[in-house]
Amino acid sequence: MCREDSRTSSKHRVGSLFVLSGPSGVGKGTLREHALNNIANLVYSISCTTRQPRPGETDGVEYRFISHEKFKQDISENLFLEYAHVHNDYYGTLKADVESALNSGHDVLLEIDVQGALQVREKMPQAVLIFIAPPSVQELERRLTKRNTESQEVIRTRLNNALRELELQDKYNHVIINDDLERASQELRNIIMNNYES
Ligand code: ADP
Ligand code: 5GP
Repeated sequence: MCREDSRTSSKHRVGSLFVLSGPSGVGKGTLREHALNNIANLVYSISCTTRQPRPGETDGVEYRFISHEKFKQDISENLFLEYAHVHNDYYGTLKADVESALNSGHDVLLEIDVQGALQVREKMPQAVLIFIAPPSVQELERRLTKRNTESQEVIRTRLNNALRELELQDKYNHVIINDDLERASQELRNIIMNNYES
């Protein structure tokens, strides 16, 4: 997509925004990494969250880990493009991060929950919404258990939330079933590349 820059009359590329959602454990993080490693010009917008870092996570890499107080202050200052309360914590995307990346010509990938994705659709209808679905709920449970990053109680909460999230997949522009990782990854790449070329 090119937009005329009225000040210089030169062509200035404004990037496209891609939003990835789907239930916890479906493979969003895995597909996101594949996309970022394989698609030039695609950047990830690092979200803010009030949840505690998992072992191995670093502030400013996976997330910006902030306090509830700071999150609420940022909400009151209208700094978020979208935010939501997910699995007992707040998560949000800073407007300034997305705007500066898009304006510098990068395509931007967000990995956010369904409530946040619908807020983005309202504010930026040109965003491309992609839902990652599991082959089955049983497989989702197996992946969450195998990942071994959450307690059984947290896994149960996430599986309950998954059922509600799956009902919203028809609000998305694309649905990818993450059965075979290579195939799903290629499908995601095709969606992003086709959009880039259009
Ligand atoms: P999410 O980011 O959606 O919570 P992850 O990317 O962390 O999910 O994936 C959850 C687990 O499932 C990880 O252990 C990952 O290696 C595994 N996984 C991802 N995609 C597939 C797939 N297509 N087939 C089997 N396992 C997968
Ligand atoms: P996790 O705690 O497993 O990293 O993420 C939990 C959920 O929060 C996932 O569904 C993830 O997509 C969502 N999430 C992460 N960042 C954001 C964000 O900035 N906004 C919203 N709305 N959801 C987010």
